[in-house]
Amino acid sequence: MDLRAFTALAQQEQLCLSCTGRLAARLGFGLTNHERGQALLATRAMLAEAEGEVGDATYFHNGTPALVPNECDLCEGLCGEVAHLAQMVLEAFDGIELATFQVGTVVNEEILAREKELQMTSGSHGEPLKSQLNREIGSRVADVSGLIPERNIPDAVIVVDTRYDTVDLQLRSLFIEGRYTKTDRAIPQTRWPCRECHGRGCERCNSSGQMYPESVQSLVAGPLLEATGATEDKFHGMGREDIDAAMLGEGRPFVLELRQPKVRSLDLAALEKVINAAAAGRITANGLVWVERPRVAELKETVCDKTYRVDINCDQPVEIERLKKGVQRLTGKVVEQRTPTRVSHRRADLVRSRRVESMKLLSTDATSAELEIRAQHGTYIRELVSGDGGRTSPSLAMLIGTECQVEVLDVLHLHLEDLKA
Ligand SMILES: [Zn+2]
Ligand SMILES: [Zn+2]
Repeated sequence: MDLRAFTALAQQEQLCLSCTGRLAARLGFGLTNHERGQALLATRAMLAEAEGEVGDATYFHNGTPALVPNECDLCEGLCGEVAHLAQMVLEAFDGIELATFQVGTVVNEEILAREKELQMTSGSHGEPLKSQLNREIGSRVADVSGLIPERNIPDAVIVVDTRYDTVDLQLRSLFIEGRYTKTDRAIPQTRWPCRECHGRGCERCNSSGQMYPESVQSLVAGPLLEATGATEDKFHGMGREDIDAAMLGEGRPFVLELRQPKVRSLDLAALEKVINAAAAGRITANGLVWVERPRVAELKETVCDKTYRVDINCDQPVEIERLKKGVQRLTGKVVEQRTPTRVSHRRADLVRSRRVESMKLLSTDATSAELEIRAQHGTYIRELVSGDGGRTSPSLAMLIGTECQVEVLDVLHLHLEDLKA
């Protein structure tokens, strides 16, 4: 190939040194595009001289020195703005704890289209202007700040919009896994926007925007939001229990996602203590550890048996033998559960088979009893007891011949240990 094709094009199209060099970006490994442009024009001048063409301009460009970016027909000055654009990035990073970053740029579409056309006419040895800007801004920012440019999962991705001189900074979320227990039967697992005002705040919700003033999520996330300056949090639980059910034992695994964190290094053990002190026993968070984003999907897909402690109430006194027999007959039984009436307005109407691993009668007192039930994931425990008007079959109510309902439900244990076997 003839390198003169590049310089001829640069001359014809009035290109600055960087835009000239970028036409040949795939050649001359290790050079900047600016250096490539200089090399091309110098070579062109020397060849011309050798052939006795024209005289003595160092960087031959129609006999005059090379164009500065501001005079460039292609980039319209952008190639000369790297220092200014890097400064915008540095200012956006100010006060944020980071180790690694990646720069992206938005460039006027017309410039990019014109550039592509130009590069095709010279054999497509070039690279997009955006690549040059990303690299040059990135290395300048790295030099000034000591931060490390990183393509793979950087702490920050910053996109510089060169059309409007604005930046969009996305900070990589932090993910913290732990387990929670809950003894307060009046708080939901996650924040629940007010039904009336959808979170804006109204009379009904006392301007809180929430159906309930607190949740496991808000109690766990509060101190972590404060410590990180994150703008938002997301609570990913491994399933959930009803609001009025306690979550006891070793607790339920969750991952808390903190979005746009300004601080990334935390003392999780100390923060765990802060969370638990503030929650005053209503909930606890335990075993906080750092995890990565893929852990969220893994957690959501994990299902296991659960053991419950249940207080039931019967409409009439039940003989203990009859109760014992009913409980026995459900142990090891597969029950058919049609989507319960209480959730049918928001869930598909299906019949599911669920296995009751074990049911034990812990105590009984005429019209009430305490049971321990271990059941397959997704078993509707309230309906297993009440029968839900025949939608769950068999049910305890059916087997003992008396209407009965769950009064109190506690989750005692998630059988995660069986998954590892
Ligand atoms: Zn240019
Ligand atoms: Zn409201």
